[in-house]
Parts: sequence; C-alpha cells; structure tokens
Amino acid sequence: MTSFKTLDDLGDVAGKRALVRVDLNVPMADGAVTDDTRLRAHVPTISELSDRGAKVLLLAHFGRPKGEYRPEFSLRQVIPALSDVLGRDVTFIESALHDAIAKLDNGSVAVIENTRFAAGEEQNDPGMAEAFATFGDIFVNDAFSVSHRAHMSTEGLAHYLPAYAGRAMEAELRALESALGDPERPVAAIVGGAKISTKIAVLEHLAAKVDHLIIGGGMANTFLAARGVDVGKSLYEKDLLDIAQNIFEAADSANCTIHLPYDVVVAKKFAANPPTRTINVHEVAEDEMILDIGPAAVEALADVLKTCRTLVWNGPLGAFETPPFDMATVSLAKTAAALTREGSLVSVAGGGDTVAALNQAGAADDFSFISTAGGAFLEWMEGRELPGVKALEDAK
Ligand code: ADP
Ligand code: MG
Repeated sequence: MTSFKTLDDLGDVAGKRALVRVDLNVPMADGAVTDDTRLRAHVPTISELSDRGAKVLLLAHFGRPKGEYRPEFSLRQVIPALSDVLGRDVTFIESALHDAIAKLDNGSVAVIENTRFAAGEEQNDPGMAEAFATFGDIFVNDAFSVSHRAHMSTEGLAHYLPAYAGRAMEAELRALESALGDPERPVAAIVGGAKISTKIAVLEHLAAKVDHLIIGGGMANTFLAARGVDVGKSLYEKDLLDIAQNIFEAADSANCTIHLPYDVVVAKKFAANPPTRTINVHEVAEDEMILDIGPAAVEALADVLKTCRTLVWNGPLGAFETPPFDMATVSLAKTAAALTREGSLVSVAGGGDTVAALNQAGAADDFSFISTAGGAFLEWMEGRELPGVKALEDAK
C-alpha cells in the first residue's frame, strides 16, 4: 500500500507559505478557458489551505515555452477562470517572488508565473528547487496528471520541503490503488483504442495482473490477425503480430483470460452511418473494415463484468466518434455504470478519448473514478512508479 502525507497531517498552517503544484494547463480559445475541469479539481485543496490561513502559492506550467519567457504562455490569462471556480480573489505573481509573497495576507491565493519559463523546471535542476524552497514552508503536490514527469515543481521541491499530497492527488492515488494496486478480485481490464503500438507496456502489465483482459477497438484487429483471422481492410499492425502473440502467452501463464470479439460491425468506408454488416469475425470481406465489436460480444462481456468486482478501462471498443460505431462502447459503459451504482463493481477509467466516450454514453458520473490525467494515467497502467508520487512517498 502506498503511503504519503496528506493535508490531514499538516497541523496548524496559519501564516505558513504553501507551494502547491496544480495543473492549470487548460484548453483556451480567444483568450478564454474553454474547459475548466482541471481547475475545478483543485478547489478542495486550495480552499482548504486558504481557509486554514495558509498563503497558497500555486505552481504550474502552461503550454511548452521550452525554458524561455513567451507571453502567449503566461499563466496570467488563467487567473479570471481560476478566480471564478474558487469564488476567491487570485493574485498573479510574475517576479520579485520574495517581496510579493511577503505582502500577501494569510489565506490569500496567488499564482506564480509559468514554471516552464525557466529551463531548470524540466531539467529538474536542484539549484532551482533549492531556490524555490525558500519561497515556501511546505510543498503540496495536487497534480497527478504531471507527476509522471520528474520536474522541479513535481519532484525536485519535495526534496527540500516537507511534502504532502493535496486532496485531488490523494483521491486519485486511492482510486488507482483500489483498481490495480490492491483490488478486489476478480479484476477486469478493458483496453481499446486504435493501436497496440502506444499501449504495448499497458497490455503486458495488465496480462500479468488482471483476471480478464478485454480487448476491443482497432487493436483487437491485430490480436485477431495474430490468431489467423483475415481482418480485410481493417486497421491493424502487421509488424506487431509477434507482440500480440507474446501477450497471449503472458496472459496464459498468469491465468488471465483474454477476451476478443467474435462478432464485429464492418463497413466498406469509414464515414457516418454507412451501410454496415454485423458478422462473425471470420466473415470479414477483403474490402471491409472492422469499426466496432458486435452485439453478441458485448452481451458476453457484460456477463463477464457481472462476475467481476473491479474494472479498469482505457480505450474505446470502436470508432466511437462516428455513428453507429459507438454502440459497443456505449452499451458496455452503461453496464459498467449500472453495476457500479448497484455497488457490485469498482470502476476506474482514464484516457482522453475514453473519458469523451463515457461522457457520450452518459456513464461517466456513475463510474467510481474517472482520471483525466492522460499520460500519467497510462504510465500508471503500465505499472510504472511515477516520480512525483514516489517523491511524496519518500518524503519525511
Ligand atoms: P484514449 O485516448 O482513451 O487513450 P486511444 O487514443 O488509444 O484512447 O484510442 C481512441 C481512438 O481509437 C478513437 O479515435 C477511435 O476512433 C479509435 N478506434 C477505436 N476502434 C477503432 C477501429 N476499430 N478502427 C479504427 N479506429 C478505432
Ligand atoms: Mg487518445
């Protein structure tokens, strides 16, 4: 079981300066934030520290300025949206950090300019961490989504200040722990998406760990091809047939059952609402491509989920952006949501397209936990130790 300090271990923080790593890397258009999901995730940590009288100093990056000042990447533009979701004033600190911080009242919230304007951030320069440590009394990491990077503000600082997990980080780590660290069995994993190539390490790790590995999406075509199925014009990776074979063998020796679809939805062109056929995987014609898994497979998979206690899901089962190839994903998402509501399943999902697909299915709210962390979520699914998390565990 992973262990780290949380805000519960803080004691009296009134008047203390808390350097808090958050994720403010929000999508913007015409100078306005278009999706404030990431900002909202940090409200509990920021509000709690502020209410407890700390000076809350937010550290974050924005975009990829590559170690130099670039006005288009200034965090100044995020301040109005952040102030909105917090319902509090937010000060922007661009330079002369010591003086600016000294002037802040207890309980105030400030954003320090883009950490990536200094090259030392991405280089995890100890000198920069040591200098930043003089601006704070404690370090709080609330940004799981950037903790797969060993940067000054995600990892380095934890070596120079007492380090704590913020509330969003704490919730994410506990959810991930309950899904793969120490899960209730049986455990099912659904892995979909376009290609195996981006998820080889995920598949290898899961094959050794879960009881049921459900494979869908374009990557299922490569596994089917490795089993000798003719997938016609479907997207598949010819050069990864050996990898697919290795994953079958790894699963076999770990007593993990791999589930591939036995019926599929095919079309001759990839467009919205083309003529389709729902057929057995052995009936794909030369000029057809597999764009979704079929209803019989979905029903069988629903039965598998009913026997499971834990589900971890990354990757849609079909080309869900294009109707009707969202049917399998939507249907299985609804099943998982219902089982979670009934209390028989712990369900955790992550990945940009996966989250979009679960929202499209109206299932996201019922999942036990949805990670919006992208790269960090995938690295965690690979069983890797994230440097920013390890630094919290090692912290004294
Ligand atoms: P995530 O972002 O959740 O990690 P991926 O990016 O790996 O997921 O995969 C999502 C993409 O896979 C979607 O764009 C979807 O259209 C595509 N996809 C899924 N199934 C198929 C298929 N059978 N053929 C082609 N593309 C597919
Ligand atoms: Mg994606």
